[in-house]
Amino acid sequence: MKKMVTDYKKIAGLCLKKYKESPRQGKPQTGQWTVLVGIVMEFEDKLEVISLATGTKCLSGPERIGAKIPGVVLNDCHAEVLARRGLIYWIQGEILSNLNQDASKYLNFITEGKVKLKPEIKFHMYSSFPPCGDATIFPITKDQNHLQDEQSIPVENNTNGTENNEPPLKKFKQSNDNVEDTPNKIDKTENKESDIEKTLLSESRYANDLNRTGAKCVEGSVKDPAGEGLEYHVVGQVRTKPGRGDRTLSLSCSDKILKWNNVGIQGSLLSNVLEENIYLTSITIGSTCFNMEACHRAFNKRCSTQKHTIQVFNYNEEEFVDCKSDDKVPCPDSSLLVTGAQSIRETYVGGTGLRQGWAKKRMDNPKSWSSICQRKLASRSLQILEKLNINKTDNCYNNKETNPNIKNYKTLKLLSNEYNNQKQKFKKEMKTWPSKSDSLYNFPIENS
Ligand SMILES: [Zn+2]
Repeated sequence: MKKMVTDYKKIAGLCLKKYKESPRQGKPQTGQWTVLVGIVMEFEDKLEVISLATGTKCLSGPERIGAKIPGVVLNDCHAEVLARRGLIYWIQGEILSNLNQDASKYLNFITEGKVKLKPEIKFHMYSSFPPCGDATIFPITKDQNHLQDEQSIPVENNTNGTENNEPPLKKFKQSNDNVEDTPNKIDKTENKESDIEKTLLSESRYANDLNRTGAKCVEGSVKDPAGEGLEYHVVGQVRTKPGRGDRTLSLSCSDKILKWNNVGIQGSLLSNVLEENIYLTSITIGSTCFNMEACHRAFNKRCSTQKHTIQVFNYNEEEFVDCKSDDKVPCPDSSLLVTGAQSIRETYVGGTGLRQGWAKKRMDNPKSWSSICQRKLASRSLQILEKLNINKTDNCYNNKETNPNIKNYKTLKLLSNEYNNQKQKFKKEMKTWPSKSDSLYNFPIENS
């Protein structure tokens, strides 16, 4: 079989083109920026955007815990997370629309209610900005020019007046800098961390400052020293998403990508029917605010048991039209496009996690729910399980007692022993990885 080289330029170009062709609804207005993330499928030498999302907002912990109806709002509207939920929706759609066939274009239905993607299929991610958290922390000079020289990034082509030549440090400073104030150094007893520190030092020959993030380290981890320049952050830590006000329960996108590289991007629901994990083959970052070392550290080097390595590319031939800049504020809305047999195009309000046009007090109306919220994805998952007759074969049950409770989100999430074991192993390795309260997942799901 021909070995494909990742055509990251084409992947980025396809996502940017799809965005341009999309309607105005949900896009930033004048004076607003957002992050664009696409998931592109590679199959039979063709590349196709299957999920495209924008968004920068996420709900705080109290908002999530206090939700009137559990499982119906999007807790995390960062574009990476929406695009990934879009991918799950797309795979579910492929399964649901091909259930009566022995095989579909992209799937093989195999024995005992299991489904397998065609082995040649690959998924690639494009993001217009480095994923929040660890991938955004790297040494820079005050003017950042050496960084651009080192990476042969063209400094011209700044055609849309978004001042992208500004040092990213300034941009981060103006956003949400709430860092932990307990000073603590990197724990040098940890091999992983001292390697990371060496990397930082070798890179910091010219650097006198650190690109910063508002993403805070999770409980129990080494804290950011918040000192001058390079002493501001520690690297390699698990962090929650940046944001003002009450802290969120959602982990940074760098951490989520790390998890997807370890346990697959398919999640617990699809693991009930998929024969194999799905991994992202590559990620392309379309921003001059970029550092290869930081990306590899964040996505590939923090978990010693990780087997899959995601390829990382930097693309600067075309800048995302609504990219982050000093003179703009984040767009409060998010959008999602999923192509394929059951395509959807939706816009959400990041501050509520509901569809645009629906107030928080109306969340009891299912029309306000996103097609990719926990309840909706779970009810599609239930449909798949029932149609594949898995509930009759006991194929993926922990034990028979779970059977009557299958219409419960938590039960459905715990069905796949294999996936949950992998997740436990990953969490054990990532010592500070937080666990959410079970009660957040204990709610009923219905067939849609
Ligand atoms: Zn993020």
